[in-house]
Amino acid sequence: MLNRIKFLEERQFLALFETRGIRGILATDVMTNKNNENCIFCKIINGEIPAVKIWENEKYLVTLDRSPIKPGHSLLMPKKHTDYIFDLSNKDYSELMLTAKKIAKILKAKLNPKRVGVVVEGFGVPHVHVHLVPLNKGNELNLERARDMDTEKLNKIARKIRD
Ligand SMILES: [Zn+2]
Repeated sequence: MLNRIKFLEERQFLALFETRGIRGILATDVMTNKNNENCIFCKIINGEIPAVKIWENEKYLVTLDRSPIKPGHSLLMPKKHTDYIFDLSNKDYSELMLTAKKIAKILKAKLNPKRVGVVVEGFGVPHVHVHLVPLNKGNELNLERARDMDTEKLNKIARKIRD
């Protein structure tokens, strides 16, 4: 099981690494996060792997998912590594969910979906992250519908959200 997880992480790392030519990413503060050297999200947070960022502050980062269910599908993650969301302290959990609310309002205002859906599962990358997905119908909220999106298109959506 552990080997399988490691294999999946390596594959995801390689897939992300191939996109390092990406343009249009926001400048990131240099963070020193040594919590988990093999974690893809820690590498994104540390600036070692590029990502299409749409929002950040000192504690949280929001990127567009490279394999969105719907355009604007975003990932909110704490910059501090924790594997499982329900291991967060009450304070950190509340703050994460209030940040999710803030980002959902931004996605709603900029992309005009009927609702923004929320999913947390954490099997893909074991670093707490909240999927925020602009939706027009309930049956759209299914991670099996995720499809890779090219960087140009992701950047275009990111500009729409950030501007
Ligand atoms: Zn991590």
